[in-house]
Amino acid sequence: MKLIRTTTALRHRIARHKTAHRTIGFVPTMGALHDGHLSLIAASRRRCDFTVASIFVNPSQFGPGEDYRRYPRTLRRDAALCRKAGVDLLFVPSVAEIYPMGPPGNLIRIDAGPLGHVLEGASRPGHFNGVAMVVLKLLNLVQPDRLFLGQKDYQQTLVIKELIRSFHLDVAVTICPTVREPDGLAMSSRNRYLTRPQRQTAQLIYQALLAGSSRLRTGERSAASLRKAMRRVLARSPLIRVDYLAVCDPKTLAPLRRVRQTALFAIAARVGRTRLIDNILIQG
Ligand code: AMP
Repeated sequence: MKLIRTTTALRHRIARHKTAHRTIGFVPTMGALHDGHLSLIAASRRRCDFTVASIFVNPSQFGPGEDYRRYPRTLRRDAALCRKAGVDLLFVPSVAEIYPMGPPGNLIRIDAGPLGHVLEGASRPGHFNGVAMVVLKLLNLVQPDRLFLGQKDYQQTLVIKELIRSFHLDVAVTICPTVREPDGLAMSSRNRYLTRPQRQTAQLIYQALLAGSSRLRTGERSAASLRKAMRRVLARSPLIRVDYLAVCDPKTLAPLRRVRQTALFAIAARVGRTRLIDNILIQG
């Protein structure tokens, strides 16, 4: 595995693989890798000839008061995991390498559009503008044939697909299922912030999603009732504070009144200072 830190060296390497007509799969991450990230790498290795992963904690997608500074940075361990997982090229740029004009001082900004302003976007203003900006930069640099993303960040997958369409980028997208801990908690780099009692409580988020899903299966179609069923589960612990709990259209993210076909159930909640998100897609 080659670890590369500069855009110049990256372009050089990528050009070589392009001329050899090898398909390039790309897995962008912020590091502190876990089995969720590794599942994306495995998917890329199955589908593509050459797998590029990146580790970059992107400052422009963090709001003021969020965890940019304390976000876990575990490069040595991450590089070893990538090597073991069969990554061919690991790109680990500095902030100055990605934002030579200094974030957010770039002259040109991207607005992620309506999909970027609801749910996560409403709770974290500007978050998806930062995501769209960094993903566009990384796609231009890596020039992958296929991009691998996790369903865990469902709204992010919609915004990135929209970005790809809007800028006519020639890249296919594969969405990989959410990898979970044995008790159902979605794996996340932020889980390591949780104390033992918080970690115990955090499993209620997935249990709430399952409670909503089972209510739907037994015939409840009113979104308000489904949300109530989910909220009841979350209310079992005083350590959880719900940020949003949505039953919405999986394409537009518009709230549903009744579930007719597919629905996205999405939850964001704080456990202590840690903000966790999860979702499930359900066939009504
Ligand atoms: P992050 O490092 O959190 O920015 O995530 C990098 C990529 O890994 C994104 O496409 C995420 O959706 C994906 N990812 C994060 N957690 C999981 C998980 N538990 N299962 C599957 N994919 C995940």
